[in-house]
Amino acid sequence: MIRTIAFDADDTLWHSEILYNEAQERLVDLLTGFESSGEVLAELYQTEMSNLPLYGYGINSFGLSMIETAVRLSNGSVDGHTVQAIIEIIKGMKKEPVRLIDGVAEVIRNLAGDYRLMVITKGDLLDQQAKVERSGLADCFSHIEVVSTKTVEVYRALLTEHRIECHEFVMVGNSPRSDIVPVVALGARAVHIPYPIVWPHEQADVGLTGTSPADYYCLEHIGLLPSLVAELDKERGN
Ligand SMILES: [Mg+2]
Repeated sequence: MIRTIAFDADDTLWHSEILYNEAQERLVDLLTGFESSGEVLAELYQTEMSNLPLYGYGINSFGLSMIETAVRLSNGSVDGHTVQAIIEIIKGMKKEPVRLIDGVAEVIRNLAGDYRLMVITKGDLLDQQAKVERSGLADCFSHIEVVSTKTVEVYRALLTEHRIECHEFVMVGNSPRSDIVPVVALGARAVHIPYPIVWPHEQADVGLTGTSPADYYCLEHIGLLPSLVAELDKERGN
Protein backbone atom coordinates (compact mmCIF):
# COMPACT_ATOMS: atom_id res chain seq x y z
CA MET A 1 0.00 0.00 0.00
CA ILE A 2 1.31 3.42 -0.88
CA ARG A 3 1.24 5.83 2.02
CA THR A 4 3.68 8.59 1.12
CA ILE A 5 4.19 10.40 -2.16
CA ALA A 6 7.12 12.82 -2.36
CA PHE A 7 7.46 15.47 -5.03
CA ASP A 8 10.47 17.21 -6.42
CA ALA A 9 9.71 20.95 -6.66
CA ASP A 10 11.51 22.76 -9.52
CA ASP A 11 10.08 21.75 -12.90
CA THR A 12 7.88 19.15 -11.24
CA LEU A 13 5.48 21.38 -9.27
CA TRP A 14 6.40 24.76 -10.77
CA HIS A 15 8.35 26.18 -13.70
CA SER A 16 11.98 26.87 -12.83
CA GLU A 17 14.52 26.05 -15.53
CA ILE A 18 13.00 28.67 -17.81
CA LEU A 19 14.08 31.35 -15.28
CA TYR A 20 17.66 30.10 -15.41
CA ASN A 21 17.58 30.10 -19.20
CA GLU A 22 16.29 33.67 -19.27
CA ALA A 23 18.98 34.73 -16.79
CA GLN A 24 21.65 33.11 -18.95
CA GLU A 25 20.41 35.01 -21.98
CA ARG A 26 20.70 38.25 -20.05
CA LEU A 27 24.24 37.35 -19.00
CA VAL A 28 25.11 36.69 -22.65
CA ASP A 29 23.78 40.17 -23.49
CA LEU A 30 25.82 41.78 -20.69
CA LEU A 31 29.02 40.07 -21.85
CA THR A 32 28.48 40.54 -25.53
CA GLY A 33 31.57 42.80 -25.76
CA PHE A 34 33.81 40.06 -24.37
CA GLU A 35 32.76 36.67 -25.72
CA SER A 36 30.33 34.91 -28.01
CA SER A 37 27.08 33.48 -26.69
CA GLY A 38 28.40 29.92 -26.98
CA GLU A 39 31.57 30.77 -25.02
CA VAL A 40 29.64 32.51 -22.25
CA LEU A 41 27.24 29.59 -21.84
CA ALA A 42 30.01 27.00 -21.91
CA GLU A 43 32.11 28.92 -19.40
CA LEU A 44 29.11 29.44 -17.11
CA TYR A 45 28.30 25.74 -17.15
CA GLN A 46 31.89 24.77 -16.33
CA THR A 47 31.94 27.32 -13.52
CA GLU A 48 28.67 26.01 -12.10
CA MET A 49 29.99 22.46 -12.17
CA SER A 50 33.21 23.35 -10.38
CA ASN A 51 31.28 25.39 -7.79
CA LEU A 52 28.64 22.76 -6.99
CA PRO A 53 30.72 21.12 -4.23
CA LEU A 54 31.30 24.54 -2.65
CA TYR A 55 27.94 26.28 -3.03
CA GLY A 56 25.47 23.50 -3.75
CA TYR A 57 22.37 23.98 -5.90
CA GLY A 58 20.05 26.93 -6.31
CA ILE A 59 19.89 30.56 -7.30
CA ASN A 60 22.61 31.83 -4.94
CA SER A 61 25.11 29.36 -6.34
CA PHE A 62 24.05 30.20 -9.88
CA GLY A 63 24.48 33.93 -9.19
CA LEU A 64 28.01 33.54 -7.85
CA SER A 65 28.88 31.44 -10.89
CA MET A 66 27.50 34.14 -13.21
CA ILE A 67 29.66 36.80 -11.54
CA GLU A 68 32.73 34.55 -11.62
CA THR A 69 32.12 33.85 -15.31
CA ALA A 70 31.86 37.57 -16.06
CA VAL A 71 35.11 38.33 -14.22
CA ARG A 72 36.99 35.49 -15.91
CA LEU A 73 35.75 36.09 -19.46
CA SER A 74 36.50 39.82 -19.19
CA ASN A 75 39.96 39.15 -17.79
CA GLY A 76 38.98 41.06 -14.69
CA SER A 77 37.89 44.16 -16.56
CA VAL A 78 34.12 43.81 -16.08
CA ASP A 79 32.82 46.95 -14.39
CA GLY A 80 30.76 47.38 -11.25
CA HIS A 81 27.64 48.30 -13.20
CA THR A 82 27.71 44.93 -14.96
CA VAL A 83 28.22 43.08 -11.68
CA GLN A 84 25.30 45.07 -10.23
CA ALA A 85 23.20 44.10 -13.25
CA ILE A 86 23.97 40.42 -12.58
CA ILE A 87 22.99 40.85 -8.94
CA GLU A 88 19.70 42.39 -10.08
CA ILE A 89 19.08 39.36 -12.33
CA ILE A 90 19.51 37.09 -9.29
CA LYS A 91 17.23 39.19 -7.10
CA GLY A 92 14.68 39.21 -9.90
CA MET A 93 14.73 35.40 -10.07
CA LYS A 94 14.00 35.22 -6.34
CA LYS A 95 11.05 37.56 -6.64
CA GLU A 96 9.44 35.83 -9.62
CA PRO A 97 5.91 34.64 -8.88
CA VAL A 98 5.57 30.88 -8.53
CA ARG A 99 4.02 29.51 -11.71
CA LEU A 100 2.55 26.08 -11.10
CA ILE A 101 2.73 23.55 -13.91
CA ASP A 102 -0.67 22.78 -15.43
CA GLY A 103 -2.65 20.29 -13.38
CA VAL A 104 -0.43 20.47 -10.29
CA ALA A 105 -2.88 22.25 -7.98
CA GLU A 106 -5.73 19.83 -8.74
CA VAL A 107 -3.58 16.70 -8.47
CA ILE A 108 -1.88 17.73 -5.23
CA ARG A 109 -5.21 18.64 -3.59
CA ASN A 110 -6.72 15.40 -4.80
CA LEU A 111 -3.86 13.18 -3.55
CA ALA A 112 -3.55 15.03 -0.24
CA GLY A 113 -6.89 13.56 0.79
CA ASP A 114 -5.60 9.97 0.62
CA TYR A 115 -1.83 10.07 1.02
CA ARG A 116 0.86 11.77 3.04
CA LEU A 117 2.56 14.20 0.66
CA MET A 118 6.08 15.58 0.97
CA VAL A 119 8.33 17.88 -0.99
CA ILE A 120 11.94 16.76 -1.39
CA THR A 121 13.94 19.39 -3.22
CA LYS A 122 17.45 20.72 -3.67
CA GLY A 123 18.19 24.44 -3.75
CA ASP A 124 18.38 27.32 -1.31
CA LEU A 125 16.50 26.68 1.92
CA LEU A 126 14.91 30.12 2.20
CA ASP A 127 14.03 30.30 -1.49
CA GLN A 128 12.46 26.84 -1.68
CA GLN A 129 10.48 27.29 1.54
CA ALA A 130 9.20 30.64 0.27
CA LYS A 131 8.15 29.09 -3.03
CA VAL A 132 6.18 26.35 -1.28
CA GLU A 133 4.42 29.05 0.74
CA ARG A 134 3.70 31.15 -2.35
CA SER A 135 2.49 28.10 -4.29
CA GLY A 136 -0.70 28.05 -2.24
CA LEU A 137 -0.21 24.31 -1.65
CA ALA A 138 1.79 24.38 1.59
CA ASP A 139 -1.12 22.96 3.60
CA CYS A 140 -1.14 19.84 1.40
CA PHE A 141 2.38 18.77 2.37
CA SER A 142 3.23 17.24 5.72
CA HIS A 143 6.96 17.88 5.28
CA ILE A 144 9.18 20.09 3.15
CA GLU A 145 12.69 18.70 2.91
CA VAL A 146 15.34 20.91 1.31
CA VAL A 147 18.46 18.80 0.84
CA SER A 148 21.90 19.66 -0.52
CA THR A 149 21.94 16.67 -2.84
CA LYS A 150 19.71 13.71 -3.73
CA THR A 151 21.65 10.49 -3.32
CA VAL A 152 20.59 7.01 -2.22
CA GLU A 153 21.96 7.82 1.25
CA VAL A 154 19.96 11.04 1.48
CA TYR A 155 16.72 9.28 0.50
CA ARG A 156 17.45 6.41 2.90
CA ALA A 157 17.99 8.85 5.76
CA LEU A 158 14.75 10.71 4.94
CA LEU A 159 12.72 7.50 4.83
CA THR A 160 14.20 6.39 8.14
CA GLU A 161 13.58 9.77 9.73
CA HIS A 162 9.95 9.81 8.64
CA ARG A 163 9.44 6.07 9.32
CA ILE A 164 8.50 5.31 5.75
CA GLU A 165 8.88 1.80 4.32
CA CYS A 166 10.33 1.61 0.80
CA HIS A 167 7.30 -0.23 -0.59
CA GLU A 168 5.01 2.48 0.77
CA PHE A 169 6.93 5.31 -0.90
CA VAL A 170 6.74 6.88 -4.36
CA MET A 171 8.97 9.73 -5.56
CA VAL A 172 7.77 11.98 -8.38
CA GLY A 173 10.12 14.25 -10.30
CA ASN A 174 11.56 15.51 -13.57
CA SER A 175 15.24 14.65 -13.05
CA PRO A 176 16.52 11.14 -13.75
CA ARG A 177 19.71 11.87 -11.81
CA SER A 178 18.04 13.24 -8.69
CA ASP A 179 14.50 11.91 -8.56
CA ILE A 180 14.53 8.52 -10.23
CA VAL A 181 17.86 6.65 -10.22
CA PRO A 182 18.66 6.92 -6.46
CA VAL A 183 15.07 6.13 -5.45
CA VAL A 184 14.95 3.01 -7.60
CA ALA A 185 18.40 1.99 -6.30
CA LEU A 186 16.97 2.19 -2.81
CA GLY A 187 14.18 -0.22 -3.74
CA ALA A 188 11.34 2.30 -3.81
CA ARG A 189 9.29 3.38 -6.78
CA ALA A 190 9.71 6.53 -8.83
CA VAL A 191 7.64 8.38 -11.38
CA HIS A 192 9.46 10.39 -14.01
CA ILE A 193 7.55 13.33 -15.45
CA PRO A 194 9.89 14.97 -17.98
CA TYR A 195 10.01 18.76 -18.28
CA PRO A 196 10.73 20.23 -21.73
CA ILE A 197 13.95 21.95 -20.61
CA VAL A 198 16.55 19.98 -18.67
CA TRP A 199 19.68 21.43 -17.12
CA PRO A 200 22.41 19.25 -18.70
CA HIS A 201 23.78 18.34 -15.26
CA GLU A 202 20.53 16.60 -14.35
CA GLN A 203 20.71 14.24 -17.29
CA ALA A 204 24.46 14.06 -17.91
CA ASP A 205 25.57 10.47 -18.37
CA VAL A 206 23.03 9.20 -15.91
CA GLY A 207 19.93 8.34 -17.87
CA LEU A 208 18.06 5.33 -16.65
CA THR A 209 20.36 2.73 -18.12
CA GLY A 210 20.59 -0.32 -15.97
CA THR A 211 17.36 0.49 -14.20
CA SER A 212 14.65 -2.01 -14.82
CA PRO A 213 11.65 -0.40 -16.50
CA ALA A 214 9.45 -2.19 -13.98
CA ASP A 215 10.92 -0.06 -11.22
CA TYR A 216 9.93 3.34 -12.45
CA TYR A 217 7.14 4.87 -14.46
CA CYS A 218 7.15 7.67 -16.95
CA LEU A 219 4.15 9.96 -17.31
CA GLU A 220 3.57 12.64 -19.90
CA HIS A 221 2.02 14.99 -17.37
CA ILE A 222 1.11 15.12 -13.71
CA GLY A 223 -2.61 14.81 -14.44
CA LEU A 224 -2.01 11.08 -15.00
CA LEU A 225 -0.51 10.55 -11.54
CA PRO A 226 -3.64 9.84 -9.46
CA SER A 227 -4.71 6.96 -11.69
CA LEU A 228 -1.19 5.50 -11.70
CA VAL A 229 -1.03 5.64 -7.91
CA ALA A 230 -4.47 4.00 -7.68
CA GLU A 231 -3.27 1.24 -10.03
CA LEU A 232 -0.11 0.65 -8.00
CA ASP A 233 -2.20 0.29 -4.88
CA LYS A 234 -4.48 -2.21 -6.62
CA GLU A 235 -1.54 -4.26 -8.01
CA ARG A 236 -0.25 -4.85 -4.52
CA GLY A 237 -3.64 -6.30 -3.60
CA ASN A 238 -4.29 -3.73 -0.93
MG1 LIG B 1 13.32 19.26 -10.65
